Amino acid sequence: MTTDLPMPRVGAAQVAAPKPMRLVLNWGRRYSLWVFNFGLACCAIEFIAASMARHDFIRLGVIPFAPGPRQADLMVVSGTVTDKMAPAVRRLYDQMPEPKYVISFGACSNSGGPYWDSYCVTKGVDQLIPVDVYVPGCPPRPEALLNGILVLQQQIAGEKLRGRALRDRLGPYAGRRVSAA
Ligand code: SF4
Repeated sequence: MTTDLPMPRVGAAQVAAPKPMRLVLNWGRRYSLWVFNFGLACCAIEFIAASMARHDFIRLGVIPFAPGPRQADLMVVSGTVTDKMAPAVRRLYDQMPEPKYVISFGACSNSGGPYWDSYCVTKGVDQLIPVDVYVPGCPPRPEALLNGILVLQQQIAGEKLRGRALRDRLGPYAGRRVSAA
């Protein structure tokens, strides 16, 4: 079926939003982050611990677990990113709807960690996708993830949607292609 109605331009509508509307939108987005856990190694266990009753990151407005990248707002990359896995990281990131956010959780995803001199490990997931918050540690404790989420929420609160849209569509990572080594 065809229609003459123009396609909604989500980015353009949000760009024109006056400041109070932007505050409301940012408030809603920062407290309803559907998270997609890209668990690749031991750090993923700490992520799971952060979602359990003791640390309970749901109280911060983070909703585990998105059924897949197409339903997710936030990707948490936790673990060692191998060159073989790199195309999958990029592909699943591309499948997430905008605006989307990334937390790099742990030394491996930040910089390669203990495997920084390995021939088969990507030296930081930010070589593949833009990262909003880096959480250090090997492994970081669940509290460190909670802190990273709070930092991300502060960033979202002050975010200008126009800048965000331009970063995702025209920034240095836009359209980047990654192939397995
Ligand atoms: Fe494992 Fe340490 Fe790498 Fe986390 S940072 S995946 S704990 S080796």
